[in-house]
Amino acid sequence: MKIVFLGTSASTPTKERNLSSIAIRFEGEWLLFDAPEGTQRQMMKAGVSYLKINKIFISHFHADHFLGLGGLLATMNIHARDWPLTIYGPKGVEKKVAHSLEMAMLKPLFEVKCIEAKKGVIVQEEKYSIEAFPLKHEIECFGYAFMEKDKKGEFNRQKAIELGIPIGPLFSELQNGKSVRIKGKTIKPEEVMDSSKGRKGKKISMVFDTLPSTIYHKAIQDSDILIHESSFLEERKDRAEETMHSTALDAALAAKKTGCKKLVLFHLSARHKETEKFENEARKEFGNSVAATDLMEIEVG
Ligand SMILES: [Zn+2]
Ligand SMILES: [Zn+2]
Repeated sequence: MKIVFLGTSASTPTKERNLSSIAIRFEGEWLLFDAPEGTQRQMMKAGVSYLKINKIFISHFHADHFLGLGGLLATMNIHARDWPLTIYGPKGVEKKVAHSLEMAMLKPLFEVKCIEAKKGVIVQEEKYSIEAFPLKHEIECFGYAFMEKDKKGEFNRQKAIELGIPIGPLFSELQNGKSVRIKGKTIKPEEVMDSSKGRKGKKISMVFDTLPSTIYHKAIQDSDILIHESSFLEERKDRAEETMHSTALDAALAAKKTGCKKLVLFHLSARHKETEKFENEARKEFGNSVAATDLMEIEVG
């Protein structure tokens, strides 16, 4: 599993930073979170494959978070994509996507499904789930948490055969934690699962544009990695409040209060040139803090 920061700037791009978006690779699939202008070139530089994106998550419909969508869909079309793409976003996502397609004068050859995000789990896959949670911004805005499912351990196939379980569906019942009955005998999952090879799934939470608020604390609780917007430094707290954004210190306090293991700051205003200032401010409250730079990668697990 890998996280790539395709962009890390707030509001406007700079020479060093593209507008903020994040890609997560999980077992050959890429998940894209926000699609601002310039996302395509950043994807090329980072080696994020257009063809391996099946789900795009939009936090909100401020220009610096989704204006690259039309162009991205156009490129997918040029590459002859012929399988569905799902776009998740706040209320009105379908209309916004239709607008983007209209602006790009595009009739995609592939199906574009739009799903309105609501608080709670919005994607449930075999090995991971994605939860959406509301933030506190000028317009409806969502954060997203990627949650890898726990690995229960390794299935000992040989042992199962020795216990007389026929090869077939009972194997997966045991792997899914259910006991099975065979010839009047009950076999428990722990008899055939090597739990020493199990591990807890990783959790990556992404907090986009927001005022600091406890409304999203439960959703980001105990994240292995918390990626939090940090538009401003405390010296511009007034501006942060006015525009409904967080400071580096706000992000650090959120990480600390929710027991997160690592904090990565992004969505940094071009107003503050030195990245270290964001890090120094955050580290006053939360030691394991880092400010993201464009194309920075984090290997997880
Ligand atoms: Zn923004
Ligand atoms: Zn915004």
